[in-house]
Amino acid sequence: MSHIIHRSLRQVPPLAAGGEGITLVDTNGKTYIDASSGAAVSSLGHGHPDVIAAMHRQIDRCAYAHTAFFTTDVAEQLAKRLVEGGPQDMGGVYFVSGGSEAMETALKLARQYWVEMGEPQRTRFLARRQSYHGNTLGALGVGGNEWRRRAFAPLLKDALRVSACYEYRGRADGVSVDDYTAGLLDELETTILRAGPENIIAFVAEPVVGATGGAIPPTPGYFQGVREICDRHRILLIADEVMCGMGRTGTMYAIEQDGVAPDIVAVAKGLGAGYQPIGAVLAHKAIVECLRSRSGMFQHGHTYIGHPVAAAAALAVQQVIERDDLLARVRSRGAVLRRMLGDVFGVHEHVGDIRGRGLLLALEFVRDRQTKEPFDPERKLHAAIKAEAMARGLLVYPMGGTIDGQHGDHVLLAPPFIATPADLSEIVSRLSDAVEAALVVG
Ligand code: PLP
Repeated sequence: MSHIIHRSLRQVPPLAAGGEGITLVDTNGKTYIDASSGAAVSSLGHGHPDVIAAMHRQIDRCAYAHTAFFTTDVAEQLAKRLVEGGPQDMGGVYFVSGGSEAMETALKLARQYWVEMGEPQRTRFLARRQSYHGNTLGALGVGGNEWRRRAFAPLLKDALRVSACYEYRGRADGVSVDDYTAGLLDELETTILRAGPENIIAFVAEPVVGATGGAIPPTPGYFQGVREICDRHRILLIADEVMCGMGRTGTMYAIEQDGVAPDIVAVAKGLGAGYQPIGAVLAHKAIVECLRSRSGMFQHGHTYIGHPVAAAAALAVQQVIERDDLLARVRSRGAVLRRMLGDVFGVHEHVGDIRGRGLLLALEFVRDRQTKEPFDPERKLHAAIKAEAMARGLLVYPMGGTIDGQHGDHVLLAPPFIATPADLSEIVSRLSDAVEAALVVG
């Protein structure tokens, strides 16, 4: 019996007792390889001495100072680093405590920008069907995950929606990738014109789709096309890099690889790498300058923004990534893991797609490889794979098929950046056993 309202109210998860490197251990002494870094969080693995030491130093100096009165040197240093290393022409950073808060902040910042620009009629966000932007009401309104939205739909301010860029399911046989991409961009522009560009605040998208679909990278040229359309119609582009940012795909920001700079970027998970809850929103110079020169403030705020211990942890994470050249490692290990997955699952009759970028990879399971027919969602194959993997001491992040049949079951792999080729081989071997067992049980 637990007094915590866990994800499942019927089952209490094991008690985590410790963690070191890529593994976690429970109170029974069982160890688990954390092949998903939680949910793409623990990019440096567990128990990293440099990050822990930085947190200790900050706790000893100043554990908390409210931002109504103070800023701190660690928060300032982190902000400087993020702005200087961020997408082109970023002008400032707003710190929060996680991904949903980061997206709420991004949405409000974009809205306030237009209000201050004298365009208060802009009240609509434009987003994609297959997307997840957080669980708070504003972020849930923009997101397209029907399962998460269903119970709360009457409370949500719904966004305008376009198709996701999801080549595996979206591109019909005989249609080239370029034509598929052009079709998506056409749909985007048509939707904008129909709603009236002057009514739209921003287009919101995950550069690599994470939790709703599983590590889906965009097609070549997609985000360049999106950027052009947003510019043509004076619509802001908000990149939700909560999952795919902070080095997870092999560059600090996933959208860098698409050669595009957004107006606002939200990051979280890998920013604190699990050592502290922290998220951040980076905003283009023009947005920061607009607010500075007009109202002089951002009408927002939470008690824990800019928390110094969280900032110290995130700063240390950034320093370790740079010092140990971990972005290069993500790229090379990502390629190794992908090859291993291809060797084991490439011809598997129930694996329809292996995809992703860097160390954010996913397998999509199908009942029929030819027709791409998903398994019956009621079967909950993803949950069975997670359970079989845990039984074998492996943590992978599962996602179910959607209620609207847009996609099938997935598992997401997002190992810590420090995983060695031998670790990756062990992950794939245990995953293979777990998948076979789950397919038999189902
Ligand atoms: N945006 C994306 C792309 C995410 O993947 C998530 C979480 O999975 C969120 C937002 C919400 O972040 P959090 O769970 O930290 O509130």
